[in-house]
Amino acid sequence: MSIRKIVVNLIPGPLIRVFASPYVAGDSLEKALAAADRLHARGLDITLDVLGEAETTEAKVRSAVEVYYRALAALGDRPFCTLSIKPGHFGYYVSPDFCKANIEGFVAACQAAGRGLTIDMEDTDLTDWTLELYRELKPRYPILGTVLQARLYRTEKDVDSLAGLGAQIRNCIGIYNVPATLAMTRKRDMKENLLKMTRKLVAGGHYVAVATHDIEYIRKARAILEELGVPKSRCEFQMLLGVPRDAIQKELVDAGYTVRVYLPFAEDWRDSIAYLRRRMIESPSMVFLVLKNIFKRNG
Ligand SMILES: Cc1cc2nc3c(=O)[nH]c(=O)nc-3n(C[C@H](O)[C@H](O)[C@H](O)COP(=O)(O)OP(=O)(O)OC[C@H]3O[C@@H](n4cnc5c(N)ncnc54)[C@H](O)[C@@H]3O)c2cc1C
Repeated sequence: MSIRKIVVNLIPGPLIRVFASPYVAGDSLEKALAAADRLHARGLDITLDVLGEAETTEAKVRSAVEVYYRALAALGDRPFCTLSIKPGHFGYYVSPDFCKANIEGFVAACQAAGRGLTIDMEDTDLTDWTLELYRELKPRYPILGTVLQARLYRTEKDVDSLAGLGAQIRNCIGIYNVPATLAMTRKRDMKENLLKMTRKLVAGGHYVAVATHDIEYIRKARAILEELGVPKSRCEFQMLLGVPRDAIQKELVDAGYTVRVYLPFAEDWRDSIAYLRRRMIESPSMVFLVLKNIFKRNG
């Protein structure tokens, strides 16, 4: 276990909750919608995510899915909001068939409402399953998007497997720690591959959402989109709530790009705390930000 993981796991949950709250939109749907409206006032679009992963009981999955249906209904006339879901949250670890039925039911409801929906990409045990489901559902449900992780060696072939679908792809480096046999280990290599996949997705006629906070690579991706003449209606940039990127977001919005903020919320704070711990383990700068907040409050 890495030192960072040990340190992060030692921080008590209540402290994480108090000091890392910028990364979660709150503990109710109403608070999440209010945060979405505030961000939209700055020209930003939103994808709303109900926190929680890898549920192992039917009851927990059903209550998670129910929150999503409530969120879908509550979004009302906010065309700038889409939704993001995770197969683990929709019951994959109860049973893949149960999960598939839950996802397809929700995808159909989103399609009927004209609401965009992205199936997030989780760990590599789910990559094949998620992409198979995506290829099956996308032709019937045009609102549907999914995610590819540029750190994986397989991703180039996965783009090939989407040929002809006109897919909507969030192109990110991936958050999960994957063995070196399956994935690149150096961030720079992952990000160079993110650019390569941006080109490949555009060439394949897909809608591409470039999801990174690395300003150098945001600019490089933008230069590629402009070089390839991609219309602004065929691409966007995405970032996570709480990562301080106001200036680049404004720059992109002013240039006419859609910038979408991934806005997580959970009605149960334990789900938020688990999410925040995972982000802190992934990002040293976030550990630093949280610790700085702790010292600021106490000092
Ligand atoms: C909208 C969105 C959706 C995503 N969906 C998925 C998904 O479905 N599956 C998946 O595997 N991954 C997903 N990710 C995570 C993604 O794959 C990366 O792990 C994450 O974005 C960090 O990589 P980076 O490209 O920003 O580069 P990094 O090098 O990690 O970050 C660049 C810089 O941004 C800052 N930064 C980054 N993250 C944080 C943070 N949390 N707090 C403070 N500062 C930070 C740091 O200053 C860092 O130096 C998503 C990311 C985004 C933005």
